[in-house]
Amino acid sequence: MRLIKSLDEIRSLTLDLRNRDAIVALVPTMGALHEGHLSLVRRAKSDGGALVVSIFVNPTQFGPSEDYALYPRNLARDCAALAPFDPEIVFVPDASAMYPDGFATYVTPGNVAERFEGAVRPGHFRGVATIVLKLLNLVAPDAAYFGQKDFQQTAALRRMIADFNLATRALICPTVREPDGLALSSRNAYLGPEDRRAAVVLYRSLSRARELFHGGETRADALATEMRDVLEAEPRAKIDYAAVVRPDTLGPPVKVTSGCVALVAARVGPARLIDNVILGPAGASDEELIELATRSS
Ligand code: AMP
Repeated sequence: MRLIKSLDEIRSLTLDLRNRDAIVALVPTMGALHEGHLSLVRRAKSDGGALVVSIFVNPTQFGPSEDYALYPRNLARDCAALAPFDPEIVFVPDASAMYPDGFATYVTPGNVAERFEGAVRPGHFRGVATIVLKLLNLVAPDAAYFGQKDFQQTAALRRMIADFNLATRALICPTVREPDGLALSSRNAYLGPEDRRAAVVLYRSLSRARELFHGGETRADALATEMRDVLEAEPRAKIDYAAVVRPDTLGPPVKVTSGCVALVAARVGPARLIDNVILGPAGASDEELIELATRSS
């Protein structure tokens, strides 16, 4: 496992790997690694090839009043968590190297990034798309792995990869959850015990939408209303949005069909949490649901 900071070095090392005919797999992260991140690493490893994990808390995707400075950072612990997967390279660039003086060019995602997280966090997806394009250019991986947990992010990045004719395949991995259903997130660390107990309400509202869809409900508004009712019953949760959308554009579906996605975001105490489930036939596996949501676009 080589810890690389230099942009020239990551470029030349990954070029060497490709020259040796290795398949290169990239898992981009902001560190503070948990089982959710490690599930992407595990999948990338099992798909074979040379594993590159990037750890970079990307300043351009945080708004001015967000938690960039406070975001948890612990490189030694992250490296220890990655060691069992034996990555070829852990790429840990400095912000000053990724965004040197004079940096001026950004990727602006289209419609898919305008609602939901894009509306609540102006500029967020511009920062995400810009850093991911830079990482894909530096590493030139065959495949890059992203979590379903950030569904809108996966939709924006898949769109960018298609629109810019990038050679990398984006692979989406299922959301890893705590036993009670709360999606793992680095921001869960901000939750005190009461808020932690309340936070499960996001998954409960998504489960309600899934249950109603399985029962035959195909009206997006009716599903969203039920999700809101569940969220509103938890006084510690303040809803940002609850909706059921098409998986490609994140626009409203005329009728909810398999592959549509239920999305929620809420503030619980000091943490802002997001979660989603892909709707589909009862009993479908997470991988089958991801396939349903991604095959149309
Ligand atoms: P982050 O460090 O928050 O930028 O996340 C890095 C990657 O890990 C992103 O592709 C996330 O979607 C993914 N990820 C974060 N949490 C989870 C989770 N609970 N399950 C699966 N993937 C996740």
